[in-house]
Order: sequence, then structure tokens, then C-alpha cells
Amino acid sequence: MGYISWFKEHAKKHKELMRRLEALSDDEVIEYFRFENMLEKEPDFCPLYKKNKKCHDIENLNCYLCACPNFRFNDDGLGLKDGLVLKSYCSIDSKDGKQFKGKSAIHQNCSACSVPHSEDYIKEHFDRDWLKIMKSVPIGFEV
Ligand code: SF4
Repeated sequence: MGYISWFKEHAKKHKELMRRLEALSDDEVIEYFRFENMLEKEPDFCPLYKKNKKCHDIENLNCYLCACPNFRFNDDGLGLKDGLVLKSYCSIDSKDGKQFKGKSAIHQNCSACSVPHSEDYIKEHFDRDWLKIMKSVPIGFEV
């Protein structure tokens, strides 16, 4: 699955879940998105929930801003870097982000970065419309 298919699919799931959580306050919504609660109540929201696995091994993991507003991607590539096609990068160049070099492409590797998963960060960037927060993520694609 390319980035854009995942992105569109996740946007749909997020929207549908937010419709069901309409009666909750913003703070309650953020609490609802805590990993432990999502695992129990929304097993279909993320494929990792069924395996009881976290994408990042951190305490207090919150899934509201999965993926991350700082992620940038284009499945067709964003230019060449070291002779490879750059498919994604981090717009804030997070100190915990890395780049994964494959045979023909470079991808951003966020596995050690917890920036979008803390509740302080989520509160600062909160909007009930996930796509509004993520509008800059897909490069060259109107959301
Ligand atoms: S490295 Fe961190 S801040 Fe950068 S895109 Fe990945 S999760 Fe977001």
C-alpha cells in the first residue's frame, strides 16, 4: 500500500470515529485516543492493535495524530537524494527521526520519534478534523 492509499483510508476511519465521539469534549476525545483505550474499544482502527503492539515503544502513547503533521510524502517521489528517490521526509528534521535507504528509494523512519504522540503536542495542534491538521502531509495532493 502506498502512502496516499493509507492516508486516505486513515482519514476515513478517523472521520467516522470522530462522528461517533461527537458528544465528548476535546479533552475526552484525546483521552479516548490513548493506546490502551483504543486497543480495547477500536480494534479495527490500527492493524497493530490486534497484535497488542505499539508503533513506538513509549509510555502514554496517544494515537490521535497518527501519522504526524510533520511528515511529508509523495509516492511518486520528491526528487533525488544520493541517487535514490526521496519518497518522504520530516519537515522539522526531528532529532529522533532517521532516513531509511532502500534499493531505489529513501523513506523517513519515525520509529524512534515520539513528537506527535504526546498529549501536550496533540492539545497544541488539536482540531476535530484530522485532515485539517494533516493538510500539508501529502505533497502535491489536495486534501
Ligand atoms: S520524525 Fe517525528 S516529527 Fe518528524 S515526521 Fe516522523 S514522527 Fe513526525
